[in-house]
Amino acid sequence: MTNCIFCKIKDGEIPSAKVWENENFFAFLDINPVNPGHTLLIPKKHVDYLFELDDGVYHELFKAAKEVSVPLKRAVGAKRIGVVVEGFLVPHVHIHLIPINGPGELDAKRAGKADPNELTAIAERIKDAF
Ligand code: 5GP
Ligand code: ZN
Repeated sequence: MTNCIFCKIKDGEIPSAKVWENENFFAFLDINPVNPGHTLLIPKKHVDYLFELDDGVYHELFKAAKEVSVPLKRAVGAKRIGVVVEGFLVPHVHIHLIPINGPGELDAKRAGKADPNELTAIAERIKDAF
């Protein structure tokens, strides 16, 4: 889609701290992380709303989330990877994969702008953990 920020990110038109991709999905770090390692996983095909995805893409998306969660959890040493889907800010399906160590940490009010160099360093650690 022409004016979609996440389409531009997966096409490389806007830079991102990429952590993983395959033919149909792309994962990169959120610029306003709730916790270090906060990752966004998107389908490459533009669809607005999670529950409008074709069943095949929907299942593959959650399989991809599981695949990314393992190195992500290892790289940042979190107790769990939490999952959030909202999409009010960016209408391109994305799953927030957020490293968490206790209850309440998924609250978006905890988010803050990250240093781009720090995002690059964390993305490298996650890539190395695959
Ligand atoms: P939601 O649509 O689920 O409410 O939130 C969209 C998320 O995308 C937010 O957490 C926001 O920080 C993130 N975001 C918005 N613009 C960009 C961007 O240009 N790059 C990256 N990496 N993340 C972004
Ligand atoms: Zn898009």
